[in-house]
Amino acid sequence: MALVTTEKMLKDAQAGHYAVGAFNVENLEFVMAVLAAAEETKSPVIMQTTPGTIKTAGLDYFYGMVKAAAERASVPVALHLDHGDGYDRCMQAFRTGYTSVMIDGSHESFEDNIALTKSVADAGRAMGVPVEAELGKVGGKEDDGPAVEGESPYTDPAEAKEFVERTGCTSLAIGVGTSHGVYTSDPHIEQSVVKAIRDAVDVPLVLHGTSGVPDEQVAEAVKNGICKVNYATELRQAYTKGFMAYMAENPACFDPKKPAKEGMREITELVKIRMTNLNSVGKAE
Ligand SMILES: [Zn+2]
Repeated sequence: MALVTTEKMLKDAQAGHYAVGAFNVENLEFVMAVLAAAEETKSPVIMQTTPGTIKTAGLDYFYGMVKAAAERASVPVALHLDHGDGYDRCMQAFRTGYTSVMIDGSHESFEDNIALTKSVADAGRAMGVPVEAELGKVGGKEDDGPAVEGESPYTDPAEAKEFVERTGCTSLAIGVGTSHGVYTSDPHIEQSVVKAIRDAVDVPLVLHGTSGVPDEQVAEAVKNGICKVNYATELRQAYTKGFMAYMAENPACFDPKKPAKEGMREITELVKIRMTNLNSVGKAE
């Protein structure tokens, strides 16, 4: 089928009390491996790219690959811009054919975040493309930027309500204690904050920085109202693990398809486990 937007996908998840996995894809092998997991589990799936990833090839290359995946697929596939870094980047994604966009104004002041997010959400509405925003801080290293430290990581529920009303964003990434990249201390999701924000706003809620968070904590956050869960770091780790293991055993190999196949197998296994935990299995039927 054709690429779909994340709007119905996430509304269905919100109504059905499950979450759709959003997986950062780095190359063709990631796209094919994530799709294989979605097909096997009959899960809707979001594939996404950050500006850092896009730098390696361009929006058009990733659009071409994920569009081809969607056309082969029997499950709904959406292509999302993760951590859109400004108005212009989001417009480029709309024009290229991305079916979902995130504008990340979380580093701005509350008022500047509202102004930036509203400008993108207005354009998205005109284009028929949903727009995710972020309020509060997800810690750690985001894309290829510097690590964020020392600020209160939690999104304020009252601010979330005002933010959604004033911007018209269609989904919201919230700070509930998770962190991007590799955890250096035990991850902890503050479930009371998830519940309080769920009670305050009615758009689907998004969890970032989920690689390395125990499945039980994520499953509880989904029960408490999270509808989209992002995974990036652990897919990179899985792919590299499979690829390197093959090369360690076959140092004379010069056909990249062989180690890549092992990397893809690792990604597919991991994504199936995550989809099962998010309770999205069978939701594409
Ligand atoms: Zn993120």
